[in-house]
Amino acid sequence: MSAEPSSGVAIVTGAVRGIGRAVCLELARAGYRVVANYRGDDELAQSLVSEIAQEGGHAVALRADVTVADDVAGLIEGTLSTFGRLDVLVNNAGITRDTLLMRMSETDWDAVLTTNLKGAFLCSKAAIRPMMRQRSGSIINLTSVVGLVGNAGQTNYAAAKAGLVGFTKSLAKEVGSRGITVNAVAPGFIETRLTDVLPDELKGTIQTQIPLGRMGRPEDVAGVVAFLASPAARYITGAVISVDGGLFMAT
Ligand code: NDP
Repeated sequence: MSAEPSSGVAIVTGAVRGIGRAVCLELARAGYRVVANYRGDDELAQSLVSEIAQEGGHAVALRADVTVADDVAGLIEGTLSTFGRLDVLVNNAGITRDTLLMRMSETDWDAVLTTNLKGAFLCSKAAIRPMMRQRSGSIINLTSVVGLVGNAGQTNYAAAKAGLVGFTKSLAKEVGSRGITVNAVAPGFIETRLTDVLPDELKGTIQTQIPLGRMGRPEDVAGVVAFLASPAARYITGAVISVDGGLFMAT
């Protein structure tokens, strides 16, 4: 990895908690000026900005719902007017609405596909304009191992996350000639609000199946995102990197 701190600008969507928060902190430590996107919790957003400032970094919090095109346009405009450029987009915002397909409502299907897949489409589309002008940039999509191997009770989530893999590879082919890389990170089970809701018994069972013997921490994912954003990853595009403690090894 480059020893030089970056002077780049990074947007992280859904940034105020969990993996997004860890990614913001990691990118700020690497020297990026960070735009922490959030959709509602002003207090958490401000606490993240303060934490980054206390560590000597630079960040602003910008409110936007990634499913709303006008909000996303505002997010990109706000970034450019604040910092003048855009180097990294981390499509992290995501939700789950788990249940078996037989019981899944159309609302739950639409909510998960709209946030996890359309959100990444809207943000990437808006972000590649300034990146193309700069002829450089990096987009990193948070998919999931569930999008690679499937999971009962998560047909909506798995479809969205698998969709993100196809999206990542296709966009990588579209914009590679403009110096823009597009990659995906596929976490396994990471300790955040998303996995807090799992029954303890299930968490115990999962843990015994993970070769590294523990669930992941948000920082475990953030390090890989920061690597993909860094100059050290300049020749990587269209890749999907699993960060799952070895739980799902490719055959
Ligand atoms: P969290 O629930 O902790 O964080 C998700 C964040 O996304 C929240 O801050 C949430 O905002 C935000 N968000 C949701 N919808 C929107 C929206 N429409 N606009 C803007 N922000 C939004 O989850 P994680 O940190 O665990 O997950 C982060 C990403 O990693 C997700 O894409 C998830 O699918 C993926 N992932 C997580 C795994 C895990 O084990 N934790 C495993 C594999 C993938 P708010 O606070 O307002 O709800």
